[in-house]
Amino acid sequence: VSEIYIGIDLGGTNIKIGCFDEKLNLLCKTSVITEAQMEPKVVVERINAGTRKLLADNNIPMESVKAVGIGVPGPSNVENGMIIAAPNLPLFKNVPIRDMLSEKFDKPVVFENDANVACWGEHAVGAGKGIDNMVFFTLGTGIGGGIITEGKLLHGFNNNATELGHLIVRPGGRVCGCGQKGCAEAHASASSTAARAQEAIEAGAESSLKKVLEDNKQITCKDVFEHAKSGDKFATEIVEETAKCLAILCIDLLHTTGPERIVFAGGMIAAGEQLLGRVKHYYEEYLWTLKAEKTEICFATLGEDAGIIGAAALALYETGNK
Ligand SMILES: [Zn+2]
Repeated sequence: VSEIYIGIDLGGTNIKIGCFDEKLNLLCKTSVITEAQMEPKVVVERINAGTRKLLADNNIPMESVKAVGIGVPGPSNVENGMIIAAPNLPLFKNVPIRDMLSEKFDKPVVFENDANVACWGEHAVGAGKGIDNMVFFTLGTGIGGGIITEGKLLHGFNNNATELGHLIVRPGGRVCGCGQKGCAEAHASASSTAARAQEAIEAGAESSLKKVLEDNKQITCKDVFEHAKSGDKFATEIVEETAKCLAILCIDLLHTTGPERIVFAGGMIAAGEQLLGRVKHYYEEYLWTLKAEKTEICFATLGEDAGIIGAAALALYETGNK
């Protein structure tokens, strides 16, 4: 093997580490545990030890590693490679993780937030392969996103671009964790889809989900989609509202960045065509009629490994043959 790229996905409960060749084939991977009260330097040492063990176990010499990429959760500064704060890692405040890792490995380290990393992974080898203008959404507890425009990740002033979950889709709507009202994240994320259903049922709405709430004390997004599929009218309305909000996001992004493809990733895409079909339905319904657009909306293809693939792909892009 000539050139090796390491991709690291720093999560709140574990760190995934993957080892890739220059074609971005996954050669081997591992994961190490993080604990909430861990000091940054302990986490960095775990990454270092985990990576070296992975390489040694697979007979890959450290000398063949050309660069390392890492994706981090939460607010970060791409310019200086700092994690400003990290969900589930409360001791991570203004941590210069890029330089800390670069020192441990004695290799170039490329750093990005996790949504941008996953976006880049899909662009490099997934659902956005060969697509130089794409929009990427992750639909999970929150809504994250990334935009690739003319082949490059969009960062914006102060790295503030692509907070796509905080685009307002329902003015005056539900209060978001960010303080705004009516954010996409507050209406169309997995957790808000579940919360909208649960609140309405607690307020007396009739639905087969009522029994789920009684039995489990809570309703999940998966429950909502399942009951909609079985024909429950109330659950169907909740899903329709999620689809409408996502369609609005797609149209707003279409008119802003002109993507050739819009890619959805994250836990909610498990709903499959039940979600995608409805998003496309409202997208067609709401979309302007001025121009015949050929923008395609589809699901991500990289799944669980998107974080490590994207991180390695960024490392390759930034340090390899551009
Ligand atoms: Zn918000």
